[in-house]
Amino acid sequence: MSTMDVHPLIGSSTKVAQGYTHPNDYGYYGDFGGAYIPEMLHRNVEELQAQYLEIMSDPAFNKAFRDLLKDFVGRPTPLFLATRLSQQVGANVYLKREDLCHTGAHKINNTIGQILLAERLGKKRIIAETGAGQHGVATATVCALKGIECIVYMGEKDIERQAPNVARMRMLGAKVVPATSGSKTLKDATNEAIRDWINNPNDTHYIIGSVVGPHPYPDMVARFQSVISEETRIQLKEQTGSELPNYVIACVGGGSNAAGAFYHFLDELSVKLVAVEAAGHGVHSGMSAATTALGKPGILHGSKSILMQTEDGQVVEPHSISAGLDYPGIGPLHAHLFASGRGIFMSATDEEALRSAFEVSKLEGIIPALETAHAFSALKELKFNANDTVVLCLSGRGDKDLATYMNAMGPQ
Ligand SMILES: *Cc1c(COP(=O)(O)O)cnc(C)c1O
Repeated sequence: MSTMDVHPLIGSSTKVAQGYTHPNDYGYYGDFGGAYIPEMLHRNVEELQAQYLEIMSDPAFNKAFRDLLKDFVGRPTPLFLATRLSQQVGANVYLKREDLCHTGAHKINNTIGQILLAERLGKKRIIAETGAGQHGVATATVCALKGIECIVYMGEKDIERQAPNVARMRMLGAKVVPATSGSKTLKDATNEAIRDWINNPNDTHYIIGSVVGPHPYPDMVARFQSVISEETRIQLKEQTGSELPNYVIACVGGGSNAAGAFYHFLDELSVKLVAVEAAGHGVHSGMSAATTALGKPGILHGSKSILMQTEDGQVVEPHSISAGLDYPGIGPLHAHLFASGRGIFMSATDEEALRSAFEVSKLEGIIPALETAHAFSALKELKFNANDTVVLCLSGRGDKDLATYMNAMGPQ
């Protein structure tokens, strides 16, 4: 494709809530967002709030970001017309190939952005938390690239379950610190990371991996990931003559690949935005991560959003076969898209996702990540017109899920 223009990462008006794209000054998308944080974190978060837009709109910062996306990550990622899948679905299905990014998923777009931001802020040390290890690997990768110290907090249980990603992080030079409290999983790792940040407010930047957390993280991460839809518009124009599809479909854990895939279409009201959550064993099985189907407004990880909770507000343990969707909340942008009706929210079960992963592999020669397989499942539920243009964000590749796929196939 032609050389891409270097666009600023922010629009001209960022002070007022504008359409669906920008939160207001306090980080609210409609009723959702904000920064609900302990007193001890105010300094760190306020520093970010005060500086992120200015840094991100600086042309030199933009150039550094674009150069690394091009030469290190391998962007622009292709927009691929999946002809055999299209025939089956009865519409023109284009796959945005985030699976071809370095490290195998979209997460690197955000960690590249945040490591450059951390450098600008003069930070010497990076912390992150990780569940399945995907965000930990993306963070360890950019820290190695920049020669910056990297500490990744991870639940003790997850360290056992995710040995290959732990090995990758160590090989990349990161220190993986086990969280040994509570359920020894993601939320305990998050607590440890927050404790670390409180104790190291001056020299440390906390890289959050999705469009969650206190303002400005949801907006900052959405802007870094917005490169996905920025490229999609240009590529659609080249391939179809129109920049606008009829549908954009993406899976939603916290919501960063969806936010990136939707971003430049948010205020194009003719484009239907479809978010697909994980229904686990079934929405009402008690083993699910279908946040909008089951959740209520509440506060989790520093922002007001929709989350799965009990009557008295305790967070419900989620379940999904895909580690990246196994999260009890969604980012505030998505809560707003749901509450306002701008987004169409659907869900796919573990079984449906597995079936889609096997079908797509055989149809298109692409083994998708289990997370992405949920988005593919939505293609069967939606009613398309024959000439509809559908963009599906292929958030990641399936290599990391091979053990699960082998299990599902059973012995030869
Ligand atoms: C982490 C991950 C997701 C879920 O995270 P979002 O922030 O919702 O995008 C989806 N797909 C893949 C491949 C992932 O690694």
